Amino acid sequence: MIRISPQRGGWLEVICGPMFSGKSEEMIRRLRRAEIAGQRVVIFKPRIDDRYDAADVVSHAGSRMRAVPVTSVAEIVEHARGYEVVGIDEVQFFEPALVTHALELADRGVRVVVAGLDQDFRRLPFGPMPELLSHAEFVDKLQAVCHRCGGPATTTQRLVDGRPAPYSGETVLVGAAEQYEARCRGCHEPGVGAALAAA
Ligand code: ADP
Ligand code: MG
Ligand code: ZN
Repeated sequence: MIRISPQRGGWLEVICGPMFSGKSEEMIRRLRRAEIAGQRVVIFKPRIDDRYDAADVVSHAGSRMRAVPVTSVAEIVEHARGYEVVGIDEVQFFEPALVTHALELADRGVRVVVAGLDQDFRRLPFGPMPELLSHAEFVDKLQAVCHRCGGPATTTQRLVDGRPAPYSGETVLVGAAEQYEARCRGCHEPGVGAALAAA
């Protein structure tokens, strides 16, 4: 007994995990398949992330796909018109308003795929990610390979001169000389000041 006709698509997918876990790779894989299916597809990424190519999403393994670099959520709203599938990479860097707009797109029938870090280098929830996770229809939490022990890594270790970065550091550093490793829970080293923050 069907009383109403089925709703047209529209949902939110989250791909999260630490650095090197294959989030960008997975984003590219999903959106490329949507393209093959003849859907209108666009990927956005924050302009902050110019580690590789300003106009591409590039994975650590080298796969890439055209992306629109944006500086604000408003730019996403403006440019997303007319697309059936909207990807947003490095979503942790966007302001909280991203959540409302991602959900509005999904409500309008758009398939929204967001990828990003679920935790910062302190292992605290990162930016709009917690809210996105709670609203999403589909969630995938990917694991990297722990740079130390080879086990499944779920955290991102920030290092400065090879040592754990201080806990009080900025959450987002642009163009700084820090390094990152994927680490498992057992190998993640809290930086100086972590115990103080927990007390
Ligand atoms: P993310 O977007 O999550 O940072 P990418 O999709 O850019 O991840 O990169 C994933 C690729 O990085 C893997 O397929 C692999 O080739 C490479 N890689 C390098 N170091 C690691 C690691 N420690 N664990 C897993 N993959 C790694
Ligand atoms: Mg990535
Ligand atoms: Zn480990």
